[in-house]
Amino acid sequence: VAKQAGGNRLEVFTDHMHRRVQERVLAEQQLRDALGGDLDRTLPVWFQPVMSTTDCRVVGAEALIRLCTPDGTILAPGWFIAAAEETGLVIALGEHVLRQAVQRLWQWRDGLDYMSVNVSPRQLAEPGFVPMLARLLAEYPQLGPGRLVLEITETAMLASTVDVRDRLSAIKALGVRIALDDFGTGYSSLTWLQSVPADIVKLDRSFVTGADRDERKSSIISAVLWLARSLGMSVTAEGVEETGEWTTLSAAGVPTIQGYYISPPVPSDMFEAAMSGIGGWGPAGADRCPAVE
Ligand code: C2E
Ligand code: MG
Ligand code: MG
Ligand code: MG
Repeated sequence: VAKQAGGNRLEVFTDHMHRRVQERVLAEQQLRDALGGDLDRTLPVWFQPVMSTTDCRVVGAEALIRLCTPDGTILAPGWFIAAAEETGLVIALGEHVLRQAVQRLWQWRDGLDYMSVNVSPRQLAEPGFVPMLARLLAEYPQLGPGRLVLEITETAMLASTVDVRDRLSAIKALGVRIALDDFGTGYSSLTWLQSVPADIVKLDRSFVTGADRDERKSSIISAVLWLARSLGMSVTAEGVEETGEWTTLSAAGVPTIQGYYISPPVPSDMFEAAMSGIGGWGPAGADRCPAVE
């Protein structure tokens, strides 16, 4: 019986592996097709607002890539970013996202303080990355480089072969700011905090979800806030979905929040409309700011 069960398990396992391989091949092909197409249509950059808890103003935005297949399906990066990394396609993809993000930041400069862009370790490792960034910024001489923020994750950085700190120093030298993404989920967050010249800490959603009902979470939030402040860094809480979470974070003194509670990531035209007051933020077009109610 055990042998039979073991045999079945093996079969299930290989089926699963087989499916994963097929998905990986499909994702890679979809990405290659998208990169070979009209990027504005195939790889649209969406934007999620970041809101100040003190005055409920949208102060920033995070650029988040989407892949649009020929049949109109919108794919989130969880589906294709690993394939992009492994194949190196993330270099071309990343430059596209950066260009789009900076262009929008310039366009929206009167309403937006800053724009965040996610950068993967593979992109950072590329010797051409910093020169590319410098060239891009030179195209917008009137835009303060500090209005661009690059988000990097600690977990991903552990796999990197180049000296990440050198690369980050070069980025800082351009005046671009750095955010530690998904903060708290890595293996050595404190080492990370100590050794990286970051400006913003993005508190991971896992500490935010249910923070209003879990004292351990709210204690961690307060501690991270204190630590970040002591080091001269700002804090953004990720993944805020409920009023109770907003209230708790706001009361703790978290200056900025991001999450479905304000708005999910949206296409650029929707972002622009909400920015100019048409429809407002939130799924139902409602004003989702409890502090001004
Ligand atoms: P991230 O940088 O931590 O981005 C936040 C993710 O959380 C986004 O998923 C966003 O849609 C989602 N999110 C935001 N608010 C909420 C909320 O209230 N609840 C929940 N459940 N989720 C929320 P998305 O867009 O699917 O991106 C996933 C990850 O893919 C990003 O995580 C980032 O690491 C990566 N990524 C996205 N765009 C790019 C890109 O252009 N380049 C690179 N290298 N990576 C990217
Ligand atoms: Mg991010
Ligand atoms: Mg994040
Ligand atoms: Mg996160």
